[in-house]
This record gives sequence, C-alpha cells and structure tokens, in this order.
Amino acid sequence: MSQAFTVGQEMTHLVGDPECPECPEEYPEQCRCGGLIHAASGEIDPAGDEVPITGCDRCGRSEDEAFSPES
Ligand SMILES: [Zn+2]
Ligand SMILES: [Zn+2]
Repeated sequence: MSQAFTVGQEMTHLVGDPECPECPEEYPEQCRCGGLIHAASGEIDPAGDEVPITGCDRCGRSEDEAFSPES
C-alpha cells in the first residue's frame, strides 16, 4: 500500500509511484535526491499560464529548487 502525499491542495499523490494517478502528464519527475517530484494544479499567472505546484515526495523540494544549481 503506497503512502499518500500532499501537493498543493491534492492529498492523494502516492509516494514512490512513478505512475502516480493524481499527477498530470509528464509527472512525477525524477528528483536528484532519488525521490519523485509530483505536480498539482496550481494558480494561473497574469499571463494566463498555469503554474503547477510541485514537490518531491522525499526531500520536499519544488521542481525549481530541485533543478537549480546548488548554491
Ligand atoms: Zn503525484
Ligand atoms: Zn527530492
């Protein structure tokens, strides 16, 4: 039984499931920590583009944090 994981308002993402049923297409993504980055529907920015809320099921980083260079 997979453990549930919360991303944004969605509380039913599945930890460690590469075919998480709650994630949109192209997610989850592999995080550099070895976990999976899930995505939930987020807000619409002023340009009208949807900005997904992302979070790793292991380290908790967002997609932006996970792929930006270590500072
Ligand atoms: Zn997910
Ligand atoms: Zn991670």
